[in-house]
Amino acid sequence: MSLLTVGSVAFDKLETPFGKTDKIVGGAATFIALTASYFTKNNNLVSIVGGDFPKQMIKTFQEHGVNTEGLEVKEDGKTFFWHGKYHEDMNNRDTLDTQLGVLDNWNPIIPDSYQDTQFLMLGNMVPAIQHQTLRKLKTRPKFVMLDTMNLWMDIAMDDLKNVISEIDCLTINDGEARQLSGDYSLRRAAKSIMAMGPKTLIIKKGEHGALLFQEDKIFFCPALPLEDVFDPTGAGDTFAGGFIGYIAKTDDLSFENMKRALIYGSAMASFCVEKFGSERIQNLTQNEINNRIAEFVQLASFEIK
Ligand code: AMP
Repeated sequence: MSLLTVGSVAFDKLETPFGKTDKIVGGAATFIALTASYFTKNNNLVSIVGGDFPKQMIKTFQEHGVNTEGLEVKEDGKTFFWHGKYHEDMNNRDTLDTQLGVLDNWNPIIPDSYQDTQFLMLGNMVPAIQHQTLRKLKTRPKFVMLDTMNLWMDIAMDDLKNVISEIDCLTINDGEARQLSGDYSLRRAAKSIMAMGPKTLIIKKGEHGALLFQEDKIFFCPALPLEDVFDPTGAGDTFAGGFIGYIAKTDDLSFENMKRALIYGSAMASFCVEKFGSERIQNLTQNEINNRIAEFVQLASFEIK
């Protein structure tokens, strides 16, 4: 099944208690597309970068089977840049700088060859652009998932609610779920967010795992407790890439299958945080993924006699 990922491909500058990086490649769509490549071979990317973006990274996408026909390179423009600094506990971070560059007023171009896509992942970006992208597909994909952040709730809530009303699945973190719904209880927040449109909601709780909601059903998946979390950047996007990649691979939208997808998403996110940026998810083997899934099964299963 084909998957289309739309979102930022970026340069990130990162500071964590473990060290700092200069500009390295990041961006929501980078993490999503690379991660999904471990699940689906029909993996299309729509994004935009400037002439400063390394050609080698475009090759890396292609080596992972990511179709880069929809990756626009604006030679006279600058790639989106984000500078983040994590607090001591790694659960919180400050944005020190954001330079939109070529993402400013971006009008995504969807290649004709992407038009029949069945699964769509709208990575975190300006809600109006997410909406525009959805409208540009002549046939609505059978499953549309969207990731967003508190920034858009602060400055573009109406646009965000408009696009949310047309999607199938929303992923946000617990703080954002509370902000979007105005309700502290995550269970009540989930109800009111699903009433805004999406039938399925995933609430990410960082090192405390993730909750999957659909109608009256709830499923919980823990995060793997790791000895060292090196850099959480992109963990949410990697989670989304694993979730939708698995759904696209299995072409099964049942709640039971989404539970499995949640485990795959969490397993992939646990790799992401082991190194800076996307380095770890560029170099995974199927064996490592299988072993990590087995660790999750072990971690979360129990019997009651
Ligand atoms: P995450 O840690 O999953 O929230 O994602 C981090 C990635 O999101 C980084 O690689 C950034 O380049 C990207 N990012 C940060 N802010 C924005 C923004 N306003 N629009 C699009 N992408 C962003």
